[in-house]
Amino acid sequence: MTRQYDAIVVGAGFGGMGAAIELNRLGLRDLLILEREDDLGGTWHVNRYPGLAVDIPSSTYSYSFEPNPHWSRLFAAGDELKRYAEHVADKYDLRKYMRFGTVVTGASWQDDRWEVVTDNETFTARYLVTATGFLSMPKTPDIAGIESFQGKVVHTAAWEPTDLTGKRVAVIGTGATAVQLIPELAREASALTVFQRTPIWVSPKPDYPIPQVLRTLFARLPLVQRAVRWLGSSILELMMISGVVHYKQLRVANRLAERWCRAHLHRQVRDPELRRKLTPDYSFGCKRPTFSNDYFRTFTKPHVRLDTSTIARIDASGVVTADGRTEIDVLVLATGFNLWDTNFPAFEVIGRDGRDLGAWWRKNRFQAYEGVTVPGFPNYLSLNSPYSYSGLSYFTTIECQMTHMRRLFTAMHARGAAVFEVTQRANDQFLHRMRTKVTQNSVFSLGQCATAHSYYFNQHGEATLLRPTSTISAHRAAGRFPLEDYDFSPALAATGAAA
Ligand SMILES: Cc1cc2nc3c(=O)[nH]c(=O)nc-3n(C[C@H](O)[C@H](O)[C@H](O)COP(=O)(O)OP(=O)(O)OC[C@H]3O[C@@H](n4cnc5c(N)ncnc54)[C@H](O)[C@@H]3O)c2cc1C
Repeated sequence: MTRQYDAIVVGAGFGGMGAAIELNRLGLRDLLILEREDDLGGTWHVNRYPGLAVDIPSSTYSYSFEPNPHWSRLFAAGDELKRYAEHVADKYDLRKYMRFGTVVTGASWQDDRWEVVTDNETFTARYLVTATGFLSMPKTPDIAGIESFQGKVVHTAAWEPTDLTGKRVAVIGTGATAVQLIPELAREASALTVFQRTPIWVSPKPDYPIPQVLRTLFARLPLVQRAVRWLGSSILELMMISGVVHYKQLRVANRLAERWCRAHLHRQVRDPELRRKLTPDYSFGCKRPTFSNDYFRTFTKPHVRLDTSTIARIDASGVVTADGRTEIDVLVLATGFNLWDTNFPAFEVIGRDGRDLGAWWRKNRFQAYEGVTVPGFPNYLSLNSPYSYSGLSYFTTIECQMTHMRRLFTAMHARGAAVFEVTQRANDQFLHRMRTKVTQNSVFSLGQCATAHSYYFNQHGEATLLRPTSTISAHRAAGRFPLEDYDFSPALAATGAAA
């Protein structure tokens, strides 16, 4: 007989752990967290490339209820994030729920419970939470001949320690990951060629070590760290809201952000032709901008070359473009992640009446009420949903979702119910509101985004990843959404209907 849990959470990153903490607080103790990797931490366990760090201040990139006074820098490195994830798992006693090396291949709603199928077992649970991440399925470029390359090929999401001293290295991609990695590679490689399709807006990074005295102060007076968090979040909010979400009303803020990045480039690169190549031709915010103090400068080193011509093919020993051939020893794929084809959802999810989530999203538009629930999918919380990513810190998103869960489960318990499902009407209204905001106000519709090649846009060209509202409004909605937006019912077993 398959074992029945209160809830199954898929993914042991910060999303899955936040959900488990909230479910515990709501009194659900029999949990199972399924994770395909061999340890917890999600993004911060999988990614290990040189230079990995957060690209927003660490005081903001953490749970507000679990501040970390020990960050060594304003923008902490990846290994500190991994340690923070371990600390959270230990403090909230989550490891006992986790099962590693387990790939979930499908889930289906059967009468009044979820049946979750993994690569070697089947489980059932009353509630299903998917926290499978947006940036968790590495994308490999479809370039002719790539399999014939005789040197080493490494994707940034599957980094292996490699001695690059004296090696000729090529990097494909110039997104936020590449911005962190390229200066590090340039320190070791004898020759570095960067193949760029789309330049990126890069701002100076106000990154400093946090002195021990300040860390002690944060530990003794958490209010001080709270103030720093508030400041960091407010600056991010201002960037996101004024420059991106309210582009129509505050276009000037967007222009100022562009100018700030251009001035940064100008200070680091004197060659006008190189500057032109590194300057995006799309509006600020169409694609996730990033921070770096040494990315642009790296391209001025004699052994580093920026190549913007289209890659025609890769052969046994090099990369061939319309402009010529580059001999290399190591090929680094900084080509990011596939979101819309493989991660929405990350595996087959079948709801009530056989509704297939992936097929339904593709046929009826990507949508999820408040970025978390979907009509036709009872007792299901999809944390990595369309319109869920709020602001620039993922912790804003997960904490809004935890608040949403609290209100939803509390209302369900107060009614003596065990099954929730968002109504079609509430979902439609939410979708209409989000689409209106995106199309009438945001940079995604009113700016120049055609050449951005941004993962914010789905395969139909719609910007359905980010929630186009302020984070204040997202927090308010999570704590006050109308309870009539959900149908609540007892479990079938309780009504005798399953007999
Ligand atoms: C290099 C990098 C840097 C980033 N920097 C920032 C930053 O500075 N600020 C920011 O806000 N965000 C950043 N992000 C985004 C980051 O992904 C989120 O901040 C956050 O870590 C997401 O947490 P999550 O739990 O939702 O997803 P993840 O951390 O991706 O965890 C999802 C987990 O689900 C597991 N999983 C997926 N499918 C299955 C399956 N079928 N079966 C079992 N397990 C499965 C995965 O193995 C993974 O462990 C960054 C992302 C990357 C890749």
